[in-house]
Amino acid sequence: MQRYFTKLKQIPAEYRLEPDIFHHAINVMRFKPGDNFELVTANQQVALMELMTIQNKQATAKTLKTYQPQVELPVSVTLLCGLAKNSKPDLLVQKATELGADKIVFFNAEFSVARWDEPKAAKKIPRLQKIAQAAAQQSQRTVIPTVSFVNLLQNFAFAKYAYRLTAYEEAAKHNETHQLNQLVQKIKEKISTDAVRPKVVAVFGPEGGLAATEIAFLQQQGCILAGLGPRILRAETAPWYLLAALSFALELG
Ligand code: SAM
Repeated sequence: MQRYFTKLKQIPAEYRLEPDIFHHAINVMRFKPGDNFELVTANQQVALMELMTIQNKQATAKTLKTYQPQVELPVSVTLLCGLAKNSKPDLLVQKATELGADKIVFFNAEFSVARWDEPKAAKKIPRLQKIAQAAAQQSQRTVIPTVSFVNLLQNFAFAKYAYRLTAYEEAAKHNETHQLNQLVQKIKEKISTDAVRPKVVAVFGPEGGLAATEIAFLQQQGCILAGLGPRILRAETAPWYLLAALSFALELG
């Protein structure tokens, strides 16, 4: 079923399709009156809609039923990723959205070969945000992750996050195998007593890894240094590993 995101919190009795939704539903999908689609509201409610009328570049639909599916990870995960080369950020955003990330923030790491300044980020971020939106629709999520950029690691607000982790390849090389598991146990305890989703930030290096100065800074910010298994993963694969591990630990019975 085709799914669209609306900024509306509640859908009016007669919903007039917003321009971008109209374009996709009517011009691309060629929906006709009587066809169904889903609309996800800003407060994560899903409405099953029926297209009613199409007239003069406007279309209306009515709500058949609403529901609130639980498809989001029980933790809110922010990925803080050192900029990697070429189309890697695209792939990272697409798959991280499918795997349940809430926020993806790119930063210029010391060893980043590709670097952005603010004007370049202003061009790149809207494109990545569109990739996140398409992936959220495809994976039937009720939230579109936000994609953003901070010039420096130092500009990121670590204090907002109760749980902080750095994926560190050197820890993995030294057989560090406990830190992620310990973090997961703490999160499990928190989830069992608290209705609010805990916030986790996880930091990842670019292709060249994280510099010693960055690791020292991240430790000062309270990030644990975790290994993600004995194999060295590509810069875009490591965040996917973390999200899949969190889903396995927190969502599967
Ligand atoms: N150049 C580094 C090396 O050869 O060791 C590899 C860097 S890796 C491609 C990029 C990032 O992915 C790392 O900075 C780290 O954040 C993450 N990463 C990859 N494999 C990892 C592992 N096994 N454990 C923890 N983090 C890992």
